[in-house]
Formats: sequence, structure tokens, C-alpha cells
Amino acid sequence: MEEHSIVESVLDNLPVAVFAKDATDGFRFILWNKKQEEVTTIRASKALGKADHDLFSQDSADYFRSVDEAVIKRGKLMKVPEEIIETKNGREVHLRTVKIPVHDKETGRLLVVGISEDITEQVKSLEQLERLNRHLVATNKELQETQMQLIQAEKLESIGRLAAGVAHEVKNPLALLLLGVDYLSEGIDPDDPNIATILKQMRDAVDRADRIVRGLVDFSSQRSLSREATRLSLIIEEVLLLVKHELTRSNTQVTVEIEKDLPFVYLDMSKFEQVLINLIINAVHAMSKVENRRIKIKARSESLDEVIKNEGARKREVFRTGDQVVILEIIDNGCGIAAGDAGRLFDPFFTTKATGLGTGLGLSVARRIVELHGGELTLRNRSLNRGAIARLILPTKLETGKVTPPINSSKEIDIPKEKLSP
Ligand code: ADP
Repeated sequence: MEEHSIVESVLDNLPVAVFAKDATDGFRFILWNKKQEEVTTIRASKALGKADHDLFSQDSADYFRSVDEAVIKRGKLMKVPEEIIETKNGREVHLRTVKIPVHDKETGRLLVVGISEDITEQVKSLEQLERLNRHLVATNKELQETQMQLIQAEKLESIGRLAAGVAHEVKNPLALLLLGVDYLSEGIDPDDPNIATILKQMRDAVDRADRIVRGLVDFSSQRSLSREATRLSLIIEEVLLLVKHELTRSNTQVTVEIEKDLPFVYLDMSKFEQVLINLIINAVHAMSKVENRRIKIKARSESLDEVIKNEGARKREVFRTGDQVVILEIIDNGCGIAAGDAGRLFDPFFTTKATGLGTGLGLSVARRIVELHGGELTLRNRSLNRGAIARLILPTKLETGKVTPPINSSKEIDIPKEKLSP
């Protein structure tokens, strides 16, 4: 075998692509081995005598040329960690290339010799690994959030158990105190204003303690629901009647926008009224320093997928992808929520209100009731205007097995009295 064909045979059997260009003749290819044919899907017969611009896209060819010129200029080997060429069939091939300047003394030509390793598989595996890693990080984050929720739920459970115990112990002494105050009030000296004032203060204090105890009992009691198919518009009408006095007194305007043909929701009427009253009274309180007090109550139906996309809502166990849900919003133009308070609003006993005005149990009880309904309650600042939005997401299906049969006409509504004006 002649020396020339030995070299050719060795080159063609190398597992790397080898090519050479003549820098003194427009960087035309003078060498193109078998592996180079494979990675570029261009046969040597087509490539030899051609330049990059005849074979590759403008961008790729410009890039190859700039590297070639730099190699010649520096007169040193250059490493290109990753370059991509697109083959005729649209496949992307990733190459790791070394380019070497070679001076052919015999002919006086300057050559650029390139050796490329096909690293497409490695790059693909790396990308796959990165995708998996991102997925893993996301799953991990979700897991941590779930864990936090479990801890929070556990915390609330313990508070609930503790509260039930305390409430039980405190209820009877309070009733006794109240009886005593009533008894004393009857026999007081009408000319002594001090005694009347002191008795009134005592009664107020006992009343307040009693309200807190009732709030605690409410919070801790794991009552089952008595749900029935309801039109949301009806319940809103009833609630507005119940808080009418408070709205008039505070000069608050209410507008109601309910989408036509809203699906039925399955609610325990009296418990749900309690939720709405709490949210509306909170809105009124938040607007105490505002001139134009306005509450907007909006309801619309959406598919759960849209809700999750737009609101980042969690999928409660009763929801299924594609389910219709009803979104009810109570929007005010009040003081909004301070940044530091956002994470604590639903904690039992968290309140920013003056003593006597709030117990800090309203939102935690409300959320508990909404969650018993398989729904979700959030409170956040409005994005464009001042004020807050309380948003409820309610399922429009009645999940089986969790609900006591409907028909409960007795309307015992537990209005948080401390929230209503005397
Ligand atoms: P309370 O009304 O007894 O304070 P809640 O649990 O109902 O208890 O509310 C907790 C706190 O959440 C309130 O003290 C208030 O700081 C905040 N909050 C509730 N609703 C709103 C609202 N619409 N705008 C601004 N802050 C609110």
C-alpha cells in the first residue's frame, strides 16, 4: 500500500472528524475524512475544493471563518468547546473542535487542520439531566410547601384542641359572673354614677371574654356541614340584609356583579353566611379611614385549569382538572394589607384592630369553613388600586361521602358580634 493511501485509510478509520482547509486559497477544503462525512452528512466529493460558505449556513460559515482566521493569526492551536452545525436533514450536531495551524513547507501553503468530536449525545444527556434536575427541584419545593401546610394544619389542630379545653373551663365561670353583674345592677344606688359605670365596664369585659370563648369554640369545633344546592345570588342578598345596618352606618356603597347563569354551589347556608359577613365587616373596618367606601362583590365561573393558571390556586382534593368552579370576590378600597402581615392574616388571634374591635379569629374560622366546603379562601392586596380582595374558590360539584344530607332550614347564624356596631 502506498504511503498516501495508508494515511487516507488511517484518517477514514478515526473515530473523530478530520478536515483541513487551505488558508492561502480562500480556506477551501483539501481534506475531509469519513467521520466528517458522517457528522456533516456531506460527502467528501462534494466538499473538497469548496469553502464553508458553499456548504453551511451563512451564520455558521461566518463563525467558522472567524475562528480559522484567528488560528492563522495567532499561529497556535485553538480549542472550540462547542459548536453546532445543522445538517441537511435538520438535525443539530454538537461538536467539540480543535483547530491547528499547519505550515506545509513543501508547497508553502498555510493550512487549518480541524479535529472534531461529535458530542451530541453528551449534550443531549446533559440537557436531559438538567431537565430532570429542574423537575426534581420543583417537586422538592412542592413537597416542602405541602410539609409547611401540614405543620400549619397540625398547629391549628393543636390550637383547636387547646381552645376547646379552655373554652369549656371558662364558659361556666363567665356565665356566673354575668349573672352576678345583672343581680348587682338591679340593687344599685341610682345616685352613685361610679357604681353604674363600674358595673357597665364589668359587663363589657365579661361580654368580650364570652365572645372570645365563643369564637374559640367555633374555631375548634369540627362540625359537619349541611350542604344544599344554592344560588350564590340568594345568599349574597341575605347577607347584605344582615349587614345592612353596618353598611349604612359606615356609609359604604356595595355593588354586586354576578355572572349570568352561574352554576349552583353546594353550601351550608348558615356557615357560609358567617364567612361572608366576616369578610364584609373586615372590608368595612379596613375602609374606616377612607372617604369613598366601596365594596364590590363579584362572582363568576371558571374552569379549574384557568384558575390554577391565573391564580396559582392549589388543587383541593375535591377538584378535578377541568372542573368548573365559582370564584367569589369581595373587593374593598380600604387600607390593604401591610407587607409584614400577609403571612399571618389567617393565624388564629392575629388582629391589627383595636381591643374590642377584633379577636383575630374571623379569617381563621372563615377559611376553615370554606375548606370544609372543599374550597379555598385567600386575601391579598389589589394589584392596581388600593384595597384588598378576599377571594373564594368554590366547587360546583358535591363530592360524595363527605356531606350530611341537605335540608336544614333552621337558620342559626353566628355573627361575630364584636364586628357589628352596638
Ligand atoms: P379580626 O377582624 O378580629 O381582626 P380577622 O381574622 O377577621 O380578625 O382578620 C385578621 C386581620 O386581617 C385583621 O385584623 C386585619 O388586619 C386583616 N384584614 C382582614 N380583612 C382585611 C381587609 N379587607 N383589608 C385589610 N386588612 C384586612
